[in-house]
Amino acid sequence: MLNIVLFGPPGAGKGTQSEKLIAKYNLVHLSTGDIFRANIKGETALGTLAKSYMDQGQLVPDSVTISMLEAEVNKNPNAKGFIFDGFPRTKAQAQALDTLLSSKGTGITLMLALEVEEEELRKRLLLRGQNSGRPDDQNPEVIQKRIDVYNNETAPVKDFYTAQGKYKGVYGIGEIEQIFNALCAVIDSKIEKPAAVKTVKPARPADVKTTKKATKKAAAKTAIKKATKKVVAKKSAKKAAKKSTAKKLVKKVVAKKSAKKAAPKKAVKPARPKGGKLVKKKVTKKAAPKKAAKKVTKKVVKRAVKKQSKKVTAKVVRSSNKKVVKKSAKKPVKKQAKKVVSKKKVAKKKK
Ligand code: ADP
Repeated sequence: MLNIVLFGPPGAGKGTQSEKLIAKYNLVHLSTGDIFRANIKGETALGTLAKSYMDQGQLVPDSVTISMLEAEVNKNPNAKGFIFDGFPRTKAQAQALDTLLSSKGTGITLMLALEVEEEELRKRLLLRGQNSGRPDDQNPEVIQKRIDVYNNETAPVKDFYTAQGKYKGVYGIGEIEQIFNALCAVIDSKIEKPAAVKTVKPARPADVKTTKKATKKAAAKTAIKKATKKVVAKKSAKKAAKKSTAKKLVKKVVAKKSAKKAAPKKAVKPARPKGGKLVKKKVTKKAAPKKAAKKVTKKVVKRAVKKQSKKVTAKVVRSSNKKVVKKSAKKPVKKQAKKVVSKKKVAKKKK
């Protein structure tokens, strides 16, 4: 919200500049003097009370003025901001305004003070009294009373906002448009530099960053999901393949076995089909295929090994026999030869 206190002595031109400012910045104009006058015109209790003070150039009591202003602020809950014209006129009013605005989560943005010399003020007020018919502008004594009240009671409010770094004085003598431009320059510098830059600058890159981050995160998540899906699919495919191959193997082995069993042994042993049934039952169980396959293959391998070992031993025996035969066949020849040689030796000796 843009909340401006338009400050200055009576006749400084607050009302005139307020009309132009509210049009440019789309603000609600709250003039305590205007509200009191409307109440006087409407002959309300508040109007009657206010008139008794205004006609003497005195301030309307704080309690009355503050509660009236609070009611006016509350009438405009959707306001983009306010221009407070003629309020606060005392430190108590300034404090009450701060409390009210902070309770609504806002505060005074700026105090704009129109600085006009007293001589110029008196001239203006008397001229306005002739044109507007305002009774407090037609009596020079009342005019001076109002100026004195301003200097004594209202001027200290400047210190209240100066302490908050919100006071800005603008020279109020010259062309209305010139003064208006000077006021606008102050407002714009206050809005655009610290306020607008602060809100605009971090908002844009932060949004972009967060959206980028969000998209990156989302992309990473989907990538991970896809990857995990692929891995899971591969694993399950492998498992399925293994299962199916295992089943196929088992089926093959079982088929072979049952074929073997069924063909020759059925006739010899009629009880064998029971064994076949047992194998079938085992195969149908989930964990059974592997066990059954293992058992069957073991048996098959054992038999094969037995057969082979028998064959091998037979071969070994045969070959060893042959060797033995060969050896034994060679031995008599050697013996005979030896015998022949010894006989020849004996014959030679005899000779
Ligand atoms: P100006 O500021 O030109 O004197 P205003 O219209 O602001 O005229 O005020 C007219 C009169 O209304 C004041 O002199 C005063 O009696 C009364 N008044 C206006 N605002 C206040 C206020 N904030 N506190 C007390 N009295 C006020």
